[in-house]
Amino acid sequence: MHKRWWSLAAVSLLAAVALVAPASPAMAAPTFKVPFPCGQSWSGQTRTNHSPTNAIDFNRTDDLGDPVVASAPGTVDVVTDLGGTSYGKYVRINHGGGYSTYYAHLNGFNVSVGQTVGYGRVIGWVGTTGGSTGPHLHYEQRLNGSAIQIRFNGALALYWGTKTYTSDNGCGGGTATGTVGTSGTPLTVRSGPGTGYAAVDTLANGTTVTIYCQTNGTTVTGTYGTSSIWNRIGTGRYISDAYTYTGHDGFIPNVPRC
Ligand SMILES: [Zn+2]
Repeated sequence: MHKRWWSLAAVSLLAAVALVAPASPAMAAPTFKVPFPCGQSWSGQTRTNHSPTNAIDFNRTDDLGDPVVASAPGTVDVVTDLGGTSYGKYVRINHGGGYSTYYAHLNGFNVSVGQTVGYGRVIGWVGTTGGSTGPHLHYEQRLNGSAIQIRFNGALALYWGTKTYTSDNGCGGGTATGTVGTSGTPLTVRSGPGTGYAAVDTLANGTTVTIYCQTNGTTVTGTYGTSSIWNRIGTGRYISDAYTYTGHDGFIPNVPRC
């Protein structure tokens, strides 16, 4: 937000109210995107005899060695080579809240364990390692360890069959810097984009934050006016834009929607 128009007294009261933790729903699911660079179209196949059945195999012409990118922000927690069986060379990314993604049969790795990745980050290259009979990317989304039906930008993939998926992953995907602005009261960080999500942290007035993406959530009135925009400042960490100085009213140009 840009404009500061509330009196300090009013802001002080509102900031205090924002600290009261309501009942907390589960953490919001990450917004997963097609695991290839912005603008690319890939043929994705689901089939009932796949293992696990909810996985997608991706192909396009001459795809051996093509870059594979992170589906959503997170922390790389597996980079391993199972040899000539199963996933072969694969990467797993932990997105928080029990969500993870798998990228299998890779030709090579471009990340290491513990690395933080964002949208569009190249993590490896399409290959045919492990139990694979030709180059393709085997991709999974999991919740608490179980493969779930895959969604891109919240939309369910085709079950069952083959469909073309066009990536908007990392398109104009910049980050922005913001500053927490309160009357001095610490600002509550939530696990999702709303006051109904769990309080996971507090940030002191004046704290500098990196904004990875923005989304609509609970409408909040704060230091910089009234806004329904929430800023994602880390994995499972959201703050209201009404308490974030960004130099922009509304959405920040070049910062993606979550
Ligand atoms: Zn597969």
